Amino acid sequence: MGSQFLQVKEAPPVEVFLLSEECKADFDEHKVNLTVGAYRTNEGMPWVLPCVRSVELSMAADEKLNKEYLPITGMDSLVLSGIKLLLGVDNPLISSKKADGCQALGGTGALYLALQFLVRVMKCTVVYVSDPTWPNHRGISSLVGLEVRSYKYWDTEARGLCFTGMVKDLKEAPEGAVVILHACAHNPTGMDLDKSQWTEIAAVIKERKLFTLFDIAYQGFASGDLDRDAWAVRLFASQEMELLIAQSFSKNFGLYNERVGNLIFITKDPEITAHVKSQVKCLVRQTWSNPPQHGGRVVATILNCPALYQEWKSDVNIMAQRVLQMRQLLYEKLRELGTPGTWDHIIKQIGMFSFTGLTKAQAEFMRSAHHIYLMNDGRINMCGLTTHNIDYVAHGIDDTLRKI
Ligand code: PLP
Repeated sequence: MGSQFLQVKEAPPVEVFLLSEECKADFDEHKVNLTVGAYRTNEGMPWVLPCVRSVELSMAADEKLNKEYLPITGMDSLVLSGIKLLLGVDNPLISSKKADGCQALGGTGALYLALQFLVRVMKCTVVYVSDPTWPNHRGISSLVGLEVRSYKYWDTEARGLCFTGMVKDLKEAPEGAVVILHACAHNPTGMDLDKSQWTEIAAVIKERKLFTLFDIAYQGFASGDLDRDAWAVRLFASQEMELLIAQSFSKNFGLYNERVGNLIFITKDPEITAHVKSQVKCLVRQTWSNPPQHGGRVVATILNCPALYQEWKSDVNIMAQRVLQMRQLLYEKLRELGTPGTWDHIIKQIGMFSFTGLTKAQAEFMRSAHHIYLMNDGRINMCGLTTHNIDYVAHGIDDTLRKI
């Protein structure tokens, strides 16, 4: 008998991992990896935050810690401290128990749970994602059976936000549609809404009776200020809007491979919130049964210890400031070189990424001629830039734009 899997076609690779592999296999001494969304130091190295290391050391020495299963919804101390970080410690939604959550496998796991909940329990059928967006928004949405539509977000010509297009598309969305919003540091464009624009979007969502699903994967990374980056979520929450929020700790704790996240839900009534939690619990039981402990305990320990929390806050700020410094430097170098085009968007954008405006052909040329790896849509990870390689990258961009 031949293979029963003969009809299985090879799936397309995930671009960001493929390009990273290609970069690893490139032996050119000048190569630069600007693809994958992870922090790098100015020496181009991954950074395990010192507060994370010290908690891990004490966990390893703690004989009271065992390997028993966690509850299905995870560690309450993590869930609650994550909610406080997002909404602010004194937010009445916490004391009234209108807000609660469930530990998840990273931001991705939280998004998956949220979208499953919206399909299975809320019977939603349509989701709106920004155009462009982080590819997994589309991927997970279609996996769970939602029809994926997009709302305009980026104006290619102006290299900036297309707010009127966004409002128009959301105003035309059918009642009950889900809208995924990047709470801060929009991936891939790095362009966020300002306060008055967020206020307008909140009004449209209320008027059109849409479901809001916030994705917050970069709290602290955007501005260096944890409260400032949570502003949009807090605004919606203060207007008594019911929300689902997928919170990731991968970037702001540098815990990429530990898979720590939190699905937060806010409703108008503590009893309804408890019902939501019970349904999410069923979904978890049938998906990963219960979450892993290690990374979640690291995050919970840091968030619940005032001294460690202060240390972590300053580490987040170090990461954010390094990114801001790289933005400024790249902008200045391109201006100095007189590189064709305008480059103000580099310093207007915030967060880990910059949407450079380079085309697919230009990105390919950057790789083949200069060994500089960026995404085909022109997105670069600002953390891949260092004071050692920034000249080389700026010259690479300059050369590419003059030739392609
Ligand atoms: N949401 C956005 C916008 C992201 O960029 C990412 C990671 O790149 C995530 C969610 C998921 O993060 P995690 O690694 O915690 O699953």
